[in-house]
Amino acid sequence: MSDKTEHPPVPEAFAALGVRPSILRALAEAKFVTPSEIQALLIPRALAGVDILGQARTGTGKTAAFTIPILQRAEKGLSTQAIILVPTRELAVQVDTEIKRLAEFTPIRCVAVYGGQKIAAQMKFLKHHPEILVGTPGRVIDLLDRRIINFENIRFVVLDEVDRMLDIGFRDDIRNILSRVKGVSERQERHEGEDAQKSEEGSTKPAASAVGPSGHQTMFVSATLSDEIERLARRYMREPVEKLIAPGADEKPTVENVEQYYFSVQPWDKYRLLKMLLLRENPDLAIVFTRTKRGAEKVAKRLHADGIECREIHGNLAQNKRERVMKNFRGGKFDVLIATDLASRGIDVADISHIINYDLPEDPEAYVHRIGRTARMGAKGKAYSFVSKDQGDLLTKVEGLINMIIPPATVEGFEASPPPSDWTEQKPGELPQGPPKPIVNRFERAYGTLPAGATGATGTQAPIPLPPRTIGSKIPINRRHKRRR
Ligand code: ADP
Ligand code: MG
Repeated sequence: MSDKTEHPPVPEAFAALGVRPSILRALAEAKFVTPSEIQALLIPRALAGVDILGQARTGTGKTAAFTIPILQRAEKGLSTQAIILVPTRELAVQVDTEIKRLAEFTPIRCVAVYGGQKIAAQMKFLKHHPEILVGTPGRVIDLLDRRIINFENIRFVVLDEVDRMLDIGFRDDIRNILSRVKGVSERQERHEGEDAQKSEEGSTKPAASAVGPSGHQTMFVSATLSDEIERLARRYMREPVEKLIAPGADEKPTVENVEQYYFSVQPWDKYRLLKMLLLRENPDLAIVFTRTKRGAEKVAKRLHADGIECREIHGNLAQNKRERVMKNFRGGKFDVLIATDLASRGIDVADISHIINYDLPEDPEAYVHRIGRTARMGAKGKAYSFVSKDQGDLLTKVEGLINMIIPPATVEGFEASPPPSDWTEQKPGELPQGPPKPIVNRFERAYGTLPAGATGATGTQAPIPLPPRTIGSKIPINRRHKRRR
C-alpha cells in the first residue's frame, strides 16, 4: 500500500463536519481519522458560534474539539483572540503542543504562558502577537496587570477542566480574568457567591441579561460537571448555552476499561506493599499518586534507595524540572512517576498501564481523573488503591460515583505488620477541636502555590460551603498527614 503522494489521506469524516483543508491536513498528519463523539458534536456547533458546555470522558479528544473551531474561525494577525485557561502548567504545555500541531498549516499562532518560568521569556514570544494564548490563571492575571496582554480582541474564551477552574481554588482568579472580557458584567459576578449558597434571591435578574451582547464565544469543557459548577459556568455564558454531552459522559463516570482493585493496608505498611506490588506488576508506565508533595518526595526517595527507578512531580519542584520529568515520562525514559494531583487532570501520556493510589484522594472525583490517566483512547489499564481502615467511607463514595464495586486484591507474600513502636496514632476523639482548615490548604499541598486571591472560605466573600469531601475520615485534613510520619 505504498502511497506515492506526500500527504496521508484527507480525513473525510472531519471534512464532513465542515473542517477546512489546512486543518484537515494537520489532522491527517496527526493520524486523526475519525472524530471522537465529542468532536463530532462540538465542532459543527462551535463553528456556528454558539456558547458551549461540553462534557466527555477523559481521553476522548476534548482539546482538539475546542481547538479546531478556533483555528478555523480565528483571524490572522489579531492578537489574543482566544484565551484558553487550564489548571496546571503541565496541561498548559500539553494543550499548547496539541494546538501547535493542529495549527501547523494555518497562519494562526499559539503561545503558552504559565508560572515558574521567567516572564521575560514568555514576553518575547508574546511580541509576535499570537492569536491564541493558553495559560494558567495566575500568570494570565500577571500579564494582564502588567498590560503585556489585553483582551481587546477576545473572540474565544475556553476553560478546560472547567469544574476544576470554577472550584474554589481558582474561582476568584477566573472571576478576575473573565471580568476583563467585554460583556461579562460585574453584577453577574457579585451574585455568584450567593448562588453558591443556593440563595434564590440573587436570581431576580437572569444571568443572561447580565451578560449582555458579547462579542465572544465561550466554550467550557470537562469530563465531570456537577450541578453547582454548571450553574456557575452558565453565569459566564450567553444563553442559549448548548450543553453537548458525549454518550456515556453524563452517566456515572465510566471507567470500564480500567481494571480496579483496592488493598486494605495500614499506613505503616503502605510503602512495603507498594514496593512488592511494583515488583510483581512490573508496569510499562505507572503513576503512583500521593496526597501531599512531601508524601511524593518520601516515596520517591525510598524507591530510589531500594533500586526502583522513578521520578517525582509535585509543586515543590522547580518548573524546569517539572517539565523535564514530564518530557522524560512521555518519552518512556523511566517507568514510575510519583505524583500529587498535579498530574491527575488532563495529562495525556500514551500507554500508562498502572495507576496506584498510594493515598486515596479526598475528593472522589479526583479518583476518576487519576485513573483516567490510563486506558486512554480505548486502551486498557489497571488501578490499585491503598485504603486504610479509616477510609472505608471514602472508598464507598468512590464506588458510588463510578457505580461499581471495587474488589479487594492481595499481593502474595505480603503480610500486615503491627504498628512500629515509634508510630503515633491519634484517635479521632483526642484531636483538638476547632474549625477545619480552609479547603485551599489541600489545594496548596497538592499544587504547591496558592493562586493569587484564593482565600478559601474566609471573611471577604460570602462563605461558600465546602464540598462534602472529607467525610471518609473523622480526622481533620490538617492532621492526617501527621499520622503517616
Ligand atoms: P481529553 O481532553 O478529552 O482528556 P485529549 O484532548 O487530551 O483528551 O486527547 C487525548 C488523546 O487523543 C491525545 O493524544 C489526542 O492527540 C488524541 N486524539 C484526539 N482526537 C483524536 C482523534 N479523533 N483520533 C485519534 N486521536 C485523537
Ligand atoms: Mg483535556
